[in-house]
Amino acid sequence: MNSWKKLYCRTFQAALKAVLPFLPYRKPKIVGSVRDIPDILIQKRCSRVLIVTDEGIRKAGLTKRLQKALSDNGIPYSIYDKTVANPTTANVNEAMEMYISGGCNAIIGFGGGSSMDCAKALGVRIARPNSSLAKMKGILKVHKRLPLLIAIPTTAGTGSETTLAAVITDAETRHKYAINDFPLIPRYAVLDPKVTVSLPPFLTAATGMDALTHAIEAYIGRSTTPGTRKDSLLAVKLIFENLDRAYTEGGDMEARRNMMKASFYAGCAFTKSYVGYVHAVAHSLGGEYNVPHGLANSILLPLVLETYGTAVHKKLARLAVETGIAAQDTPAEQAASDFIRAIHEMKKRFQIGDTIPAIREEDIPKLSHYADKEANPLYPVPVLMDAKELEQFYYMLMEK
Ligand SMILES: [Zn+2]
Repeated sequence: MNSWKKLYCRTFQAALKAVLPFLPYRKPKIVGSVRDIPDILIQKRCSRVLIVTDEGIRKAGLTKRLQKALSDNGIPYSIYDKTVANPTTANVNEAMEMYISGGCNAIIGFGGGSSMDCAKALGVRIARPNSSLAKMKGILKVHKRLPLLIAIPTTAGTGSETTLAAVITDAETRHKYAINDFPLIPRYAVLDPKVTVSLPPFLTAATGMDALTHAIEAYIGRSTTPGTRKDSLLAVKLIFENLDRAYTEGGDMEARRNMMKASFYAGCAFTKSYVGYVHAVAHSLGGEYNVPHGLANSILLPLVLETYGTAVHKKLARLAVETGIAAQDTPAEQAASDFIRAIHEMKKRFQIGDTIPAIREEDIPKLSHYADKEANPLYPVPVLMDAKELEQFYYMLMEK
């Protein structure tokens, strides 16, 4: 990247970092079981609730314990289960009709990132009934309190139960955009391991490595705070201690609970301190070839860390010591390379390869341009790279 663009990126990032302490970030309150939800609703005087989820989750019976808890406490509810993988404005409008006709006054987002995005966008529509979602696109356009929003994640990975963003696709134009504002952060996050036990090993691994990527990219970036560094360290440690067990022993409740915590804290870290080029490149591959997000991240993570070189040695060494991969007195360069190797080995244990065969060479300049646009100047990455420099990662992922 040329010096002028570097200066521009770093100035932009420094300005964002300077205002960080004055922004109204908050962490959702953690709840340990779906059975605790009725008490919260009663306490908040919410008389009727809309559960926003998708068909797969409902058919798998994951919402049953919640439904029973609500019925046992005499709380009426409706369920919107038509959320699609990239939730659309049509989804949100249908959910809104149910919310209004049912006389609801609280929303529960139940599922992965899509259900959560749909639930958040529904909250926005209720808070700003006279504005279309498209008008809320961008940052800080909502600035109105949403109805009570409770998030129940069913994977340990996306961290969207902690974030202020909802990504929505326009049902007609297929235009995909993000709505970012502080009121979208859910009030409560229910980290109930029982809703993740049926997640198959491959998805457990891929989503878990997505959370690992959130924690590491937030930690090595330049806009960390003592709080986000603490959250990242905790998340990385929990993932190294529990992801293998959650993968091989899906029913291990302790490992599942710890992975949910890891995903939550990694989410809190990247909400404030951002992600980096692993995510930017992974998003471009998801958009073009539908490569699953966690899968793309886990393949890219060690490659990008390696490329950052000496700029990240000290920080990766700290992560290596924290996870017991290196000793306190191991030289930073050695400890960093041990840490990167540990990620490689972890990925191998989960049967995740090193390539993404879908990549076509002729697409690389375009994909790299998307990644550059997403990351620069926003992501405070340890080493800046422009579109041309980012192309190397796509070549690394191509089958040899
Ligand atoms: Zn991610």
